Formats: sequence, structure tokens, C-alpha cells
Amino acid sequence: MTGLLFSIEEFAINDGPGIRTTVFLKGCPLRCVWCHNPEGWKAAPETMEKRGRKEICGYTIEAEELARRLRRDADIFRDSGGGVTFTGGEPLQQWQFLCEVMDLLPGIDKAVETSGYSSEEAFGKVLSRVDMVLFDIKIADPYLHKHYTGVDNEPILRNFNLLKSSPKSFVVRIPLIPGVNDSLDNMLATLDIIKGAPGLKRVELLRYNTLAGAKYPMLGLSYNPPFDGTRAPEIHDVFTSKGIKTVVL
Ligand code: SF4
Repeated sequence: MTGLLFSIEEFAINDGPGIRTTVFLKGCPLRCVWCHNPEGWKAAPETMEKRGRKEICGYTIEAEELARRLRRDADIFRDSGGGVTFTGGEPLQQWQFLCEVMDLLPGIDKAVETSGYSSEEAFGKVLSRVDMVLFDIKIADPYLHKHYTGVDNEPILRNFNLLKSSPKSFVVRIPLIPGVNDSLDNMLATLDIIKGAPGLKRVELLRYNTLAGAKYPMLGLSYNPPFDGTRAPEIHDVFTSKGIKTVVL
């Protein structure tokens, strides 16, 4: 089976434990207003203009070829306690390809970073193959979620409940977007969603990337975020007091 990627980054240290190779799959049904990877949206190769030069962003690759490339670093993964992390875009959009690649990586630690927006079948099939999930929970309120990401959070919360009831380890990642989701109310509502999960290793609060708009002009897009990106987000750590390890990145 063939998949569509837009990047592979080696020696990543922020996408799960140890030294990892991060694979970026192209295509995402969300349109988060703070997204800093708009080249991950379109499920097809596209032209990007970088410093006056046009480049094609996105390429197809066979599952076996990708797996062969990833297996080359198996010793580094084993010695560092690392592995491979699949992200995007939204990697679950290509879940059949993802499953095929993961089945070709026996003995290698596998993680997926996901918005959780997928069918239950896709989520379940991928979940059964990974060692760890990095699950983004962006906004708890359904109306605000739709407003700022373009999609309902109902399938996301359904998949999150599947994850919660599974034995898999997972990390919850919350992007902190000033004036959008950094309120105490949103953090308390998020706590309600995630508490009581034995597999939860920690919460990562991710500060808004102030360079988020940099790639939009390269794709012929404009970036006009409906929030003040120059203001530092509020940080309400409501999780630590409930015994949930929390880090701000
Ligand atoms: S889910 Fe991730 S890749 Fe997709 S729009 Fe949101 S931030 Fe961007």
C-alpha cells in the first residue's frame, strides 16, 4: 500500500520517549486556527515557495520502503528507549497505510500523535498496534471546538474514551492558545475528560508557536488568527493537584 508523507525527521526528542524518527503524514480534516503545519492539510502533493524557489511538498511511498528506512535505526531506538512516532497532518486519515507500516516494524516502539478525529474502526486498529498515544485535546466545549477547529469533537471524545479504557500508555497534549482555550474553565472541563485514566502518563501544555504563520505565504495562504498571538497564554495547571504529572513545553 502507498502512503502520502510530507516529512521524515530523525533524532526527534519531543515526540515520545528516547530518540525517535517522526513521520509526518499528509492530510488533515481539521483547520485549527493556530495550526503551524498547514502543509499537512491537503491530502495531495502541492507547491510550496521557499525563498523564491518552488518545491513540491508531499510524496508517495510504499509501506515496505518506509518500514525499511525506519528499521535502519532500530539499534538507536533500542539503545535510547526511543522508536518511531507517526504524526501529521492527521495520521489516522491514512490508517490502513499506517497499520501496514506498523506491522512491518516488529520490536520497534511505535507511537502516534493524533487529534483523535477518525472513525472508531480506524482508531481501534491503530490503537491495537501502538505502544503509546500522544492525544491532542484542544477544546472541551463542543461549540468552541467546532468554531476554532472546523470539526465536532464528538468523535474525538468517543475515541478518547476508547483510549482511556484500553491498557495503552498515553500523553494528553493541550496547545495553549491565548484567549481561545487557555481559560481556567477549559482546563477544568479538560480535567473532567481525562481524569481516572490508568494509562495517562502526563499532560503536556504546549505554548502557542508564535511562528505559526510562517509557512502560510509559502502555500499561497494568508494567516489571520482570530486571537492575539503576541500575548502569552494563561497557564492553569489544574492537573498536578489531582496527581497528574504536567509539563509546560
Ligand atoms: S489537527 Fe494538527 S495538523 Fe490538523 S489543523 Fe489542527 S494543528 Fe493543524
